[in-house]
Amino acid sequence: MIEKMELLDVDKLIEEFESMTKDAGNVQRETLKKILEENGCAEYLQNLGLNGKTDPESFKACVPLVTHNDLQPYIQRIVDGSSSPILTGKPITTISLSSGTTQGKPKFVPFNDELMETTLQIYRTSYAFRTREFPIENGKALQLIYSSKQSKTKGGLIAGTATTNVFRNSQFKNTMKAMQSQCCSPDEVIFGPDFHQSLYCHLLCGLIFREEIQFISSTFSHSIVHAFRTFEQVWEELCADIREGVLTSRITFPSVRSAMAKLLKPNPELADLIQKKCLGLNNWYGLILELFPNVKYIYGIMTGSMEPYLKKLRHYARDLPLISADYGSSEGWIGANVNPNVPPELATYVVLPNIGYFEFIPLKENVEEAKPVGLTEVKVGEEYEVIITSFAGLYRYRLGDVVKITGFHNLSPELKFICRRNHMLTINIDKNTEKDLQLAVEAASKLNTEEKLEVLDFSSHVDLSTNPGHYVIFWEISGEVRDEVLEECCNCLDRSFVDAGYVSSRKINAIGPLELRVVQRGTFQKILDHYVGLGAALSQFKTPRCVGSTNNEVLQILCNNVVKSYFSTAF
Ligand code: AMP
Repeated sequence: MIEKMELLDVDKLIEEFESMTKDAGNVQRETLKKILEENGCAEYLQNLGLNGKTDPESFKACVPLVTHNDLQPYIQRIVDGSSSPILTGKPITTISLSSGTTQGKPKFVPFNDELMETTLQIYRTSYAFRTREFPIENGKALQLIYSSKQSKTKGGLIAGTATTNVFRNSQFKNTMKAMQSQCCSPDEVIFGPDFHQSLYCHLLCGLIFREEIQFISSTFSHSIVHAFRTFEQVWEELCADIREGVLTSRITFPSVRSAMAKLLKPNPELADLIQKKCLGLNNWYGLILELFPNVKYIYGIMTGSMEPYLKKLRHYARDLPLISADYGSSEGWIGANVNPNVPPELATYVVLPNIGYFEFIPLKENVEEAKPVGLTEVKVGEEYEVIITSFAGLYRYRLGDVVKITGFHNLSPELKFICRRNHMLTINIDKNTEKDLQLAVEAASKLNTEEKLEVLDFSSHVDLSTNPGHYVIFWEISGEVRDEVLEECCNCLDRSFVDAGYVSSRKINAIGPLELRVVQRGTFQKILDHYVGLGAALSQFKTPRCVGSTNNEVLQILCNNVVKSYFSTAF
């Protein structure tokens, strides 16, 4: 049992957040000062002629906007073991691998204690607001979290995904305890070497502790949907393990087996109960509540590229609240969800003004000429690209995310995540983002619900090997769907890209008919496996929505698994 006194003081956390956001402008100036003072001796800043100045005006005048590519040579020297202050005052000892699922391959970004502390700060902040609305009791959480392999770089630094670096930090566990959010699975499962085996054991632990589970979470909600889709396949095996008290032979790693052996005892009553519940469900509707009767909510990032999984999540969760988790990246955290009552489709994130220095490039203007504005200068209704200056050696770093300002919480803006900037379908004058693609897929998949058409996952590609080039949309679907329906879906996809550049190009055939390619069941699992093989963790996995020609391996997986293809006749 957790002592009451160990729990976080929710009122105090909310009060601190309120007073900080009321003073967002000053807090930003102070934060920048702190970052520049702590890291002023770093070679990167020394070379930019700041000469000890720490005010935003001098900072903007001296320090250029950069992308990851610009910083790559500096980061590489750190990775290779140089211990001189390159990007930060204190040497970097840990490297995060970004998921790479947005870019094609993982990027290295510095990780340090300050980044860990900002991570915990954002966890605590959103927990405080969440708990006020949806209190939980002492119990456990089914956290579908996975650690990637941690390796050593050539220079001896520890490297793993950002989530791995966080989960492995001792403070993570303490904070989870204080947030009544202890994972029901043992460490050996979270850090198990094979995520298929870890996933199975997470589900098994969840069932063993079913009465105690207070909420279900993951970093990105894809992992939750993925877990319950897997449950549909393995539930009988799980029941058999519970009945006999013996773990299936599919779990082969000795550390995982011995950790699970401590939890697993023969329990035929529980096995019977789960079996009865599973057999009583209609197409698994409401599965989560049946399995975990005391669950209060589902928690994980549900916006952006996670939105397409909401439908399936609602199917499993029935009327349980779905709460989107916070907004951040391997490079640093940005905002907390302090309105947990809002459905995920409308979720926004309030920037924490002391976790970094933030600027925003207005997207209305020509981006190359547009001047970034400060945190408190953004305008409601406008879209911006996010620029981060962090405590971990990134200065005026273009994150590549597009956000829209939906309002202010005190003086700090509320951001709605829109899309990644570089995820763009474009052939000539057309520009369609990941969000446009998502809307088109939503429209087309709604066309014929009687056919039981379910789009399990999707991606896209610009095919320039044809003349003219054309958009290709890949769908993995479940259920038997007639060709006529898919032909209509293909036309609907084509018509749903309403961007004027696309429509006019289609009308004069400067862009060819859109092609819908249906891929075999399991294709997106192969893509996931591919990324995990590259060192990505399932926890941070995001299906690549637009696959460029340079991402040859993923493109090959998609193209090699096509079972049917349709060309639009919409224009
Ligand atoms: P990673 O490459 O794994 O560090 O992922 C970071 C990226 O995930 C961000 O730059 C965003 O594009 C996306 N992301 C993170 N949090 C959210 C969120 N709350 N909503 C939508 N997208 C998010």
